[in-house]
Amino acid sequence: MQSDPLVHVIDHPLVQHKLSLMRRRETSTSSFRQLLNELSMLMAYEVTRDMETTMVEIQTPLETMMTPMIDGKKLALISILRAGTGILDGMLSVVPGARVGHVGLYRDPKTLQAVEYYFKLPQNMPERDAVVVDPMLATGNSAIAAIDRIKKLKPKSIRFLCLLAAPEGVSALRASHPDVPIYTAAIDRELNDHGYIMPGLGDAGDRIFGTQ
Ligand code: URA
Repeated sequence: MQSDPLVHVIDHPLVQHKLSLMRRRETSTSSFRQLLNELSMLMAYEVTRDMETTMVEIQTPLETMMTPMIDGKKLALISILRAGTGILDGMLSVVPGARVGHVGLYRDPKTLQAVEYYFKLPQNMPERDAVVVDPMLATGNSAIAAIDRIKKLKPKSIRFLCLLAAPEGVSALRASHPDVPIYTAAIDRELNDHGYIMPGLGDAGDRIFGTQ
């Protein structure tokens, strides 16, 4: 799986260190949020690495030059509610012009299938590169359902970014959407019988928002 060129495990030491801190049981809600914010900034570098730039004319104090710039407004960050919102702030601090969409899905606790309750995306998706964000890629059901819906609006490209993935989720998402690259800080051992990633970090939403 690691050799799949569309599965990017971001093994930068800063990313790995912060992820280890987030995994710890004793990490407080405020530290967890702060670390997620920092990690999201770092991961934003990777997920935007091959984004298109356009040459723009600018004036330095000495002369005029043509220089590459990303059009932040063309980027659509799409959060899978609710835990995906934890990734938005960090990414927006790096790409402040990005537009933001939300997809509301909950996991049916019995079937573990994704059920949609909210869907609001920026206008003009065919002009935009979409980055779908959710901290945990567990069964893959939510990511697959969200991307199914987003694809109907025909964005220019779609990437999926998470903090932690289960091998099962990576395989399921690759099988359903082979054109969508996955960016993650780690691929853990397995899913348990309740759909949690092992060893994981617990329930990302609960840890971000301090709920249980
Ligand atoms: N969602 C979470 O928040 N944690 C998991 O381990 C799996 C899904």
